[in-house]
Amino acid sequence: MPTMKSILFVFTLLFSGMALRAAASAPPAMANHPIAIVMHGGAGTILRKDMTPQMEARYRASLKTALQTGYAVLKKGGTSLDAVQAAIQVLEDSPLFNAGKGAVFTHDGKNQMDAAIMDGKSMRAGAVADVQHIRNPIALARLVMEKTPHVLLVADGAEKFAQSQGMQLMPAGYFYTKPRWQELQRALQAEKRGRKSLALEENYPGTTAQGFGTVGAVAVDRYGNIAAGTSTGGLTNKLDGRVGDSPIPGDGTYANNLTCGASGTGTGEYYMELNLTKDVSDLMEYRGWSLKRAVDYEIHDKLVKFGGENSGGLIALDRQGEIVTAFNTAGMYRGYIDTHGNLVVKIFRDE
Ligand code: ASP
Repeated sequence: MPTMKSILFVFTLLFSGMALRAAASAPPAMANHPIAIVMHGGAGTILRKDMTPQMEARYRASLKTALQTGYAVLKKGGTSLDAVQAAIQVLEDSPLFNAGKGAVFTHDGKNQMDAAIMDGKSMRAGAVADVQHIRNPIALARLVMEKTPHVLLVADGAEKFAQSQGMQLMPAGYFYTKPRWQELQRALQAEKRGRKSLALEENYPGTTAQGFGTVGAVAVDRYGNIAAGTSTGGLTNKLDGRVGDSPIPGDGTYANNLTCGASGTGTGEYYMELNLTKDVSDLMEYRGWSLKRAVDYEIHDKLVKFGGENSGGLIALDRQGEIVTAFNTAGMYRGYIDTHGNLVVKIFRDE
């Protein structure tokens, strides 16, 4: 005959088991880690004299909307992955930025886009490269991370996978914008006059602020998890099939809860050869450097010594929500909402 005590014991075991399972599947309800988000909208020779006040206001407003969109996700207890994706999608849908609609053109007059997202908790990443019909490449990168055993899908294969996930393919014309097309024409003219093939700003004076606009976001959520993402059309006049740093984990995009999340922008070839975002993380992990020291070293010292003077910038954030933005160009579209809820948007170097 079971005694009252033994019946109670079995019940306690049963209920505590159920509670444990529930706790494992749901995010911790009381998680209250400080939240923050930082974004960039590309680095380059962005000068006040080249921009009308209206243009400047449009860039600032778009960055603000994107930051607020990501922050709203974090505020209501959403994950940093969701926040990064939501914030980036706002800029992918804006024709002002070199990602999604408004992507730059390749030498052959196509829009070939790259994107990556990385989860600092699991250190899993998803990426796509050379996609031509995906409205939000960052959303497809997320699906690669979550629905496949792979990290990077390219071109037709990536688009076939997108369709299998119910994603609608856009006509190539959706991505067209006149300023980007004109930028390619200027680059082609300059090339005819004997300049190099990549649209590096110093090779193509005149592309100025329009030549840039890759977008990136890094966030830390209420659970203390970091995520990072980057989305881009790459470089104007790039060769067909060229892939840059943005979709390569450790180069243009990286996240690790132990150290930081980071997203780069600039001449991707340098970032790839230096594994720049992973290098920032490594300096923190193996040398114990602060985030600021590591980022400043990469952008203002290592990159410059490697020939990448005036070549780009980086945004990064650590688990405490400490935010760093750095660039060695004249400007970088950038902004953040810090752990105190302060929203800041900047474009030029002197602000
Ligand atoms: N890093 C990007 C690429 O090389 C371009 C940019 O950020 O402006 O594809």
